[in-house]
Amino acid sequence: MKIEKALSSKLPNVDLKNLSFGTVFTDHMFVCNYKNGAWEEPKIIPYQSLSFDPSMSVLHYGQAVFEGMKGYKDDDDKIWLFRPDQNFERINKSAARLQIPEFPKKYFFEGLTELLRLDADWIQKGIGNSMYIRPFVFASQPGVQASPSEEYTFIIICCPVKAYYGGEVNVLIAEEFSRAASGGVGFAKAAGNYAAQFYPTALAQKEGYQQIVWTDASTHEYLEEAGTMNIFFRINDKLITAPNNDRILDGITRKSIIQIAKDNDIDIEVRPIKVSEVVEASKKGTLLEMFGSGTAVVVSPIKSFGYQGVNYKLPVIENPLSTLLKEKITSIQYNLSEDPHGWRLAVD
Ligand SMILES: *Cc1c(COP(=O)(O)O)cnc(C)c1O
Repeated sequence: MKIEKALSSKLPNVDLKNLSFGTVFTDHMFVCNYKNGAWEEPKIIPYQSLSFDPSMSVLHYGQAVFEGMKGYKDDDDKIWLFRPDQNFERINKSAARLQIPEFPKKYFFEGLTELLRLDADWIQKGIGNSMYIRPFVFASQPGVQASPSEEYTFIIICCPVKAYYGGEVNVLIAEEFSRAASGGVGFAKAAGNYAAQFYPTALAQKEGYQQIVWTDASTHEYLEEAGTMNIFFRINDKLITAPNNDRILDGITRKSIIQIAKDNDIDIEVRPIKVSEVVEASKKGTLLEMFGSGTAVVVSPIKSFGYQGVNYKLPVIENPLSTLLKEKITSIQYNLSEDPHGWRLAVD
């Protein structure tokens, strides 16, 4: 892999204590192009703007998928990735669904580790601080013919992120809009899935909700995802989350939480969960917690949910499972605890 180092670092001009998520990028980026039926030799270059033809396929037909992952620095300045094999597999599953060619594993891991080595100084120590890593691939062939592109560009960019408390969110259960349909692309981390969420979410925000809880597209009876996170419910002492299907994104945080819950003898059920069950539990006072899960915030507790014009508040409880699970997962990520499942990968 060719590496062209930045002549100087932007880091001295960046206030790492005051970062807003996803707005500041490190000194380097990884780029790999697909042409003539093959991925070319990748390279790392200084972070920069790129220029493309206005007819570039992705701008018209939307073949674009991405990943979101993090690098963590431990107390000894060692950098760790969390289950990166899962991100690699998932970006290729997403790509396959959008008729984008698979990306080679060797390039993915070389790109990640080399970028983290080069831009290691951008990662702050301390729980919550991390390097957010954004691999993505898009159709970069010029031309407006409505067919799969014959050229693609795979890029990895990185942003330093600091610990932040997202606060508890109010969510609105979807009764009309849908995020994903059976047979569609909901399971893929496709850029278009996000585009389709912005409008309904903006409407919900006007009503005072921060996120929408997506329900199944055909009946709106089953709870599926919270905004761009997976969702968990706690009824009495049982945690419940929906099973994966082709409408639900197979979240790495979600599957890690399920495993950690099992490891800690927390009662966990992976099964379809109805809106009516959650509403009833809330009325009876047995709905104790709801939270979203995803790489960006790990766990995002939910304060209330809206459904059919009624707002249902979650109780304030001591020692919520969401806090316990978040602590367990972050202590693995930051190399503060044992890693019984071999989820950590050291970047040396
Ligand atoms: C990325 C994403 C998630 C969370 O996945 P993680 O691997 O846990 O970060 C959940 N739902 C949607 C729709 C997503 O795009």
